[in-house]
Amino acid sequence: MYLPPGYNTKELESGVKNKWRWEWLNERGSLGEKWGDWLKKPNTPGSAYCEICFKTINYKSNGKKAFKSHAEDVTHLKNYRTWKSNQVLPGSSKAKPETESMQDRVAKQRAITAAFISEHCLPFSIAEDLLNYAKRLSEDKHALGKTTISKTSATYIITHGLAKSFKQEVADKVKGKSVSLNLDEATNNNNDKIVNILIQFYDEEENQIVLRHLGSRKQNHATAKDIMMSIESVLEEYKIEWWQVVSMLMEKKFYSHLRTGYVMAAIKMLKMPLNNHTIRQMTVLDPALVGHSQVEQAMKNLGKKMPQVLSKEDLGALSQEASIYNVDLQVKDLQAKYKEDDRIDSGYWVKVFDLNNFCAMRYPTIKKLVMPLLTVFSGPLIESTFNIMDDIIEKDRTKMTVVNYEAVAIVKTALRKKNVKSTDLKVTPNMKKACISAYSSYQKYLKEMKEEKKKREDAVLDSSVQLLKLERAKKIAKLVRLKNRHSGIKRKPDTSSDGTGRKWKRIKKI
Ligand SMILES: [Zn+2]
Repeated sequence: MYLPPGYNTKELESGVKNKWRWEWLNERGSLGEKWGDWLKKPNTPGSAYCEICFKTINYKSNGKKAFKSHAEDVTHLKNYRTWKSNQVLPGSSKAKPETESMQDRVAKQRAITAAFISEHCLPFSIAEDLLNYAKRLSEDKHALGKTTISKTSATYIITHGLAKSFKQEVADKVKGKSVSLNLDEATNNNNDKIVNILIQFYDEEENQIVLRHLGSRKQNHATAKDIMMSIESVLEEYKIEWWQVVSMLMEKKFYSHLRTGYVMAAIKMLKMPLNNHTIRQMTVLDPALVGHSQVEQAMKNLGKKMPQVLSKEDLGALSQEASIYNVDLQVKDLQAKYKEDDRIDSGYWVKVFDLNNFCAMRYPTIKKLVMPLLTVFSGPLIESTFNIMDDIIEKDRTKMTVVNYEAVAIVKTALRKKNVKSTDLKVTPNMKKACISAYSSYQKYLKEMKEEKKKREDAVLDSSVQLLKLERAKKIAKLVRLKNRHSGIKRKPDTSSDGTGRKWKRIKKI
């Protein structure tokens, strides 16, 4: 639709006062750009077109002036710059015409990836994720160009940024809720014993029981009191109160160390240690038991064991709901649909909680009772988390502090349990905020280090100045002594003052 440069426009422009001239394309603007870059001549008399601004320019009354003023137009200049930078960026195709085939270019990317894996002794299994990582970062090339990260700042981003925002997320979610804890012991390469505390709670948003790494503490002296202090300092970080803790379990190998700690905690937990009797009654949570004559009684007994969760009035309501639950046809339906390997929370109980009578929840009290009980740990869920710990410990991180270790464990567990890969991680506003503040903490740390270094240097300088002064003072004192002795010997009035003076001068020079 544009006319090719050089096309004879005589006929087209016959009725136009200022006629089109092809040599205008060679004029240059203030940026040194050729008008021909943007100026196009369509098949319409008296008008041309700016391809960058998508704008028609009429020249019939003003001729060349019309283009001149367009070329100096602020918007046009801005558009031109953007266009220009987009032209040059992709592989600077102008400077280097694309002679490489796509096959070669892809091969190059693979080679770089493989070299990186070898250089850093990474497992080959990381290859695909590594490539996805590169793709994810290159989505924002401009920011990537401005991004810097060092060993130390990365530590800050993990501990003060990512882990902190995951911690905050858990803290918000468990506020006032019943939770279960699980303790496990690990040993790092420094042979430090570390106690890991996991938490399980019912997440209202995800509508299921979720597991997170709550925290880690160094525990070389594992007396009951020490362990309690560790647990309490972790709970403190999340503002979790003891009454919220409905159960606390620990690995058997750890149990001997922790038994007394566990007993101490149990007292704080308003006597909710899971004895065998309680555990037996918890089988009432099994969908298979719907319709069983003991259901109502078992629920009542469990309810009584948790005064922090259910009040006396609640117990009455619980009894009523339990008798309805036991004969509810819709519950029976859910029971029939539930399969052995379904999750008991999202596969069954969440659906029971969703049942309602005219908008009102049918089993609010049962929900109150069951949610905390569902948090009580079961085997396989934990197993996989402790494998995560082993992963972290196995790798060569001898100098890793417990704080860093905790942060990695928190982030890793959260990602794995949310079933999200880092390359697909949705970076929430909170995460960004935390990472920004983490980076400024890092910069503060750098500044402090610098000041510290300067202080040390100043101190060294200061002490050497003092030393010098002292030496000089000693020297002077010595000279004074010499002089005194000298003048003492040559007390005689007329041993030419010249001689002494010269001698004095010589000494002074030393
Ligand atoms: Zn323009």
